[in-house]
Amino acid sequence: MSIDYRLKLLESMEKMRDWLHPSISKISKYGYYYPSACEIFSCAQGEELGHLEFLSQNQYLDRQFFDKVHICPRCLSYQLNFREICPSCHSSNLLLTKQLHHYSCGYVAPETKFRQGLEFKCPKCHEVLRHIGIDYSEPSEVFLCYHCDATSPDSDISCLCFNCENIFDVSCAIKQTLYSYKINVKGVEALERGLVKENVQQFIEIDFPLYNHAMFKEFSQHYFKESKRYGASLQLIQITLENWQEFIDINGVEEGRQLFHDLIIVIKESLRDTDIIGLLDEERVGILLPDTPFTCIDIILDKFHDTINQLNINNRLSINFSCSSYSKEMSQPEELFKQVNQEKTYHFLTNES
Ligand SMILES: [Zn+2]
Ligand SMILES: [Zn+2]
Ligand SMILES: [Zn+2]
Repeated sequence: MSIDYRLKLLESMEKMRDWLHPSISKISKYGYYYPSACEIFSCAQGEELGHLEFLSQNQYLDRQFFDKVHICPRCLSYQLNFREICPSCHSSNLLLTKQLHHYSCGYVAPETKFRQGLEFKCPKCHEVLRHIGIDYSEPSEVFLCYHCDATSPDSDISCLCFNCENIFDVSCAIKQTLYSYKINVKGVEALERGLVKENVQQFIEIDFPLYNHAMFKEFSQHYFKESKRYGASLQLIQITLENWQEFIDINGVEEGRQLFHDLIIVIKESLRDTDIIGLLDEERVGILLPDTPFTCIDIILDKFHDTINQLNINNRLSINFSCSSYSKEMSQPEELFKQVNQEKTYHFLTNES
């Protein structure tokens, strides 16, 4: 990523002297994009968000809340259909209906079970119900499932992703916060200097999108503070390669390096632009997922498995994933780094056949 474009963006924001708000976009995966920024980076709509966040995380831009978008944890698309589903059979063929309580026989059932033409007739004792308050009452509303006939006071909410057809519980949806941005004093200074400071060295290698440990730590501090301030969820995934030394011994350093690059790139491609992937330390890769509920981690790990499998790694490579969540009892991000090391690991072996 060329730093010049970030300066260009700062320049246009300085001229604007106002908040840059997102506009609705049907083709952006977040459902929003920032037209002027998108034009400067000549990227797909929505991809400019990563650059805006980078400038904000490095304190060149101030930001304020604009909107929250639910996105699919698998493909990151905003095109979700939220449906009420039956807690027993998961069908979405549900009806919210009144319940009737027939006083004389005590029978309680959804209204539809009583209805016969224009009348209400009790399915248990076959008496006709005439007067509400005298013959019967309407104590509550329930969900009636047309598929399995179960009634329940509450429904579950499920999401169907129109983009990848994934079906998941609403608690697994990732909430992407969208902000409005405005240049601040530090941003104006950078513009006058003609330099965005972090161009010194932010990745472990030039043009390879893995943040070095110092940058990763900085991002962790930023998101950790945000979670402390706003109570937003934050997940950290750790990736370690168990038999890496053995792999290098057999296949050589160059092949190992290439494989590591491919691995990071496919993982990076399955993340949002605002997720951060970098070095936790010499041996561990970390991924920070802001605004991400713990419930969607399984879906994210499944997605990693799928993308890594597509790499067709011909040798056995043992990859371990573990995850820990920010909790308000933690006082600094290092606790998150430490905890993730003690969590249960999900083991993944390539070329298992
Ligand atoms: Zn009855
Ligand atoms: Zn059902
Ligand atoms: Zn999807």
